[in-house]
Formats: sequence, C-alpha cells, structure tokens
Amino acid sequence: MISTERTISTSEKIVIQTLDLFRVAQIKSKVMPRDLILTYHSVETERSGYKFAVNAQLFAQQIEYLADCAEIVPLGEVSQPATSNRPRIAITFDDAYGDFYDNVYPILRAKNIPAVVFVPTQFIESDQGLLERDEGIAKPHLTWEQMNHIAATSQIEFGSHTHSHKSAVDIIDTLRTDIQLSIVALEKNLGERPKHFAYPYGQYNMQTHDIVQNFGFETICTMDNTPLAAGPFQGRLDVYDRNQQLPYFKLTAAGLLSPGMKDFIRQTMYGRA
Ligand SMILES: [Zn+2]
Repeated sequence: MISTERTISTSEKIVIQTLDLFRVAQIKSKVMPRDLILTYHSVETERSGYKFAVNAQLFAQQIEYLADCAEIVPLGEVSQPATSNRPRIAITFDDAYGDFYDNVYPILRAKNIPAVVFVPTQFIESDQGLLERDEGIAKPHLTWEQMNHIAATSQIEFGSHTHSHKSAVDIIDTLRTDIQLSIVALEKNLGERPKHFAYPYGQYNMQTHDIVQNFGFETICTMDNTPLAAGPFQGRLDVYDRNQQLPYFKLTAAGLLSPGMKDFIRQTMYGRA
C-alpha cells in the first residue's frame, strides 16, 4: 500500500523548529491576542486537499487557547465599547461547509461560544456545484435542517454571504437582488432575518458598500486585517491555513507576524504563494 502522507522536508523542519522556539519564548512572556474577528472556512479531520481548511484537532486547541485568555463575544458586540480588560474575539466561518456540523459545532456548543456562519444560500438550496475556490474538491454544505438544529441549541448565528457567492464588485448591477435572495432564503428557512453580512472573497468597493449598507446589517465583514471599528464595517483576520500550529496561531492572533514572515511560513509549510 502506498502511503499518502507527505514526508516533511528540511525547510519545513526548520520552520517547525522556529515555531517551537516561539513556543518556548511564550512561556517567558505570554502572547496575548489583540481584539479581532477571526475567519475560518472548513475544519477537517482528514485532509481533503482543500487549502482553506484547518485541522480539527488544531482548531480545538485554538479555541481552548482563546477561551482561556480572551473574551469570545458575539459578532454584534465587537463594535460596542469593551466591558473587560481581556482581549475580545469574535469567530466567523465562511461558506457554511458541512464539516462545521461535526467538527466545530460540538466544540462551540460545549463551551457556549458564540460564532457566525456566513451562508452562500444558493449552494444550500440547490445542493450542487462547487464554490469557485474549491478547486475540484467536493465539499458538501450544511443543510437547513442542520442549521436550524445548530441555531436552536447554541449561540451560533447565520449571516448572509450573498446568494450566488460571486464577487460583489463583479455583479454591481445585480448585487442588491443577490443579497435580497440570500436574506429571503435565510429568513424562510431559519425564521430570522440575518444580522450580519460577509463579502465573498472579501472583495468590495465604495459602490458595493453603499448597496450593502442599505440593508441595515449590524456587521459588514471584509477580509482586511484592520483593528475593530465603531461602525458596521469590520475587517477580519484569516486563520484558515491547513495545519495551523498553535504557536503560529498565537503569533498571528497577537498581530506579531509581519505579512512577509507569514508568507514565508505559509510557502515553506504549505507550498502556497
Ligand atoms: Zn465565501
């Protein structure tokens, strides 16, 4: 039988050792996350090859770490003034992948942790096709039944991620209708109008902002890595690399990794540009 496991290259070993040094350094001075909104996509127990997936075991470690040192707040609270000295973190998941039900929901439910899942409603309604970014890997989505169960038994909410999951800047003329379709689908199937919105691919411009703002969402999420803001527009930090090791995650959440360093680690460990 041929093993599908990759062997670790020398450069990967160097990165892992470097991350270990970070871990040792953290024992001396605790690295704290900054106030932020995190973005995940898929959380997998077995590697599918999808590049926006976090290993389920590592995800559990990340949540444990965050719950230990930060206040994990509902997304709607990030624009409110802070009530404690602990860092405030909101957690979001884009695309409503089916593995959320098995690998994320039980963990968040057990700790009563709030989160928002952004749903591209067309993919739930028709249960077909792949998102553009899935690169040939078939990843099922959550069903309405699962989402209803999740919403009824946890602090997890569902937000709009448009209907078609097309880049908002590419569909200016139909963007309003596209968002409206997603709101109608979410309201019809989950019984509640979505309070939050996330741009597919994080892509927006002033025109799309005008259109989206008219829907009155409490939060409108981009993928800009910016500090939490007072208004509805919020940037988010992506933490959806495969196998994101805990020391690396801590440094990322603390804002201590420069973009260049992040790219270096990603390319070396994951062969990703
Ligand atoms: Zn998306």
